[in-house]
Amino acid sequence: MSGCVGARRFWAWGLGLLLLGCGASGAGERDSDGEPSGVSGAGGAGAAGAAGMGASGATAGAGGEAGLGGASGSAGAAGAVQGAVIEITSPVSGAVLRQVPGSPPKAAVHFEVVAAPAVAAVEYRTETAYSLGVSRLTPGFPLDFGYEYVGERWAEAIAFDANGAELGRDTVDFTIAPPLVTGGDCYAELDALGVSYTRTSARGVEQAVHVKGPIGGVTFSSGTSTNPMGDPVACEFVKTLHAFAALLTERGFVRVGTLGSYCYRCCCAWSETNQCRSLSDAEPNCGSSGYSNHSWGRAVDVRYLWKANGTRYDINDPSHFVMASGGTCTGAIGAQTGISLELYQLACLASSRRIFGTTLTPNYNAAHRNHFHMDIGRSGTPSSFITRSLMPEVDVGEHPDSCGE
Ligand SMILES: [Zn+2]
Repeated sequence: MSGCVGARRFWAWGLGLLLLGCGASGAGERDSDGEPSGVSGAGGAGAAGAAGMGASGATAGAGGEAGLGGASGSAGAAGAVQGAVIEITSPVSGAVLRQVPGSPPKAAVHFEVVAAPAVAAVEYRTETAYSLGVSRLTPGFPLDFGYEYVGERWAEAIAFDANGAELGRDTVDFTIAPPLVTGGDCYAELDALGVSYTRTSARGVEQAVHVKGPIGGVTFSSGTSTNPMGDPVACEFVKTLHAFAALLTERGFVRVGTLGSYCYRCCCAWSETNQCRSLSDAEPNCGSSGYSNHSWGRAVDVRYLWKANGTRYDINDPSHFVMASGGTCTGAIGAQTGISLELYQLACLASSRRIFGTTLTPNYNAAHRNHFHMDIGRSGTPSSFITRSLMPEVDVGEHPDSCGE
């Protein structure tokens, strides 16, 4: 479908007819190559279908309507469209979204947009015009869908006003990749991913490994060191970091400076009496607090991020990660620009891409002012994916439910 990219960009200009020359199977057709079994839809498929593809016309001309100030629409090649009505923010263009094994294997794709105030509903459609569903959940109009078919894909988001009239469209390219390895041999999967590691053992850590080089092209180091971090991590978590590396690479990052990964101790904060336990130490009595997720080698604290040109982003720098009112991925992100917006987007995409189960940012509490805590829980695969905030009480100090930190 690569030959269609240029033509598709015209969609946001409302010149929908160009698409028909790109192998689309027909306006409005529910093609057999569709995706009949979504994970979840935020409304009935095709509910907004009265304004189907064939009727698209030049309705995106509503682009003259202000509302998305600063949003660089994908149609902006010639700068002809100002203030796009709708822009897809998830998935990001070029994303590689890998399926998880199952019957059939599926890749969970999280769609989300920024939209002008006049937008009341957004319908998502595949490249075959199959409707994935309609979302009316403002402001991001999110919708999750399980993709069964692999390959280069694209989807469009169509904005409608409260009366069902189309206001505009945006498209996004991405790739659905098959599961890495079936059979559940984690070490074999690391081999397939090209990760250099040695097996080791660590208290509480299942299939512990020491990583000896970059993971997916990204080096996870300690602090400002350029060497791979020495912490033992669970094999499963290396796969998580590999998926995170794909996101980091998309966003231009090549190195991560962590504040550590492994520490066998109780929840929540590290202290003189709640320090990391070695194999020879007595089992800590964690009571109702439970253990920190760092105990299982399935968590990491991220402080620094380096771009390919050497620029360093520091989450502990209040001018880099700017705390603001509202949840990290809801209210607070809307107030961000520049480096801070990049950091917010990274944390929020790591959740919406279902990479980490829990992400805590400086908006969570004082204990997280200087890092992103990211984990996948004690065992198995996470059942929820969330970036947590305790807003509006920013930076109020230790909090009793900061478990996992
Ligand atoms: Zn942590």
